[in-house]
Amino acid sequence: MATLKEQLWDPVAGFGVTFRTMFRKVVTEQYPEQKEPTAPRFHGRHQLNRWPDGLEKCVGCELCAWACPADAIYVEGASNTEDDRFSPGERYGRVYQINYLRCILCGLCIEACPTRALTMTNEYELADNNRADLIYEKQDLLAPLLPGMEQPPHPMRLGADEGDYYRGTLRRQDPQEPQGGTES
Ligand code: SF4
Ligand code: SF4
Repeated sequence: MATLKEQLWDPVAGFGVTFRTMFRKVVTEQYPEQKEPTAPRFHGRHQLNRWPDGLEKCVGCELCAWACPADAIYVEGASNTEDDRFSPGERYGRVYQINYLRCILCGLCIEACPTRALTMTNEYELADNNRADLIYEKQDLLAPLLPGMEQPPHPMRLGADEGDYYRGTLRRQDPQEPQGGTES
């Protein structure tokens, strides 16, 4: 048999959290109308980076695909030729796909990449209404062409061979242009 205290006080105490919360500042975020910035190192959509002349950093080595625990990356490499060059080295990524139905955004692939071709952006809106559109192709992942960059294929503009690119001894075209690559 419940005591008088239990009958009168306990229901009030049970609503204590509710009453306290009613008078606190509301923290609801008005997404998607207002987007809050993520933490700077948030793991979002991937990006395939370029060198400052527009050539691609990916060499089609597949190390990212082998590192992926979710088997979310598919790469097919191909050989560059002097007339058909997409990256400074011998090889480039002809096919590059990331399946965002599988990806868990762990970042192991970007750790495995030897050329820093693959990095991750802060973009987190990776939803769609069909499965096919969540398999991102190379053109969906490539970094945009910035001023001074040229759409591949084209010859190496910044050095005599790929060693100039990878050793960080790129010839500057524009004194304002940063050396190295374009990454996010
Ligand atoms: S972030 Fe992780 S799960 Fe996604 S593609 Fe890279 S290694 Fe695979
Ligand atoms: S993104 Fe990096 S690890 Fe993946 S195939 Fe290209 S160069 Fe190799």
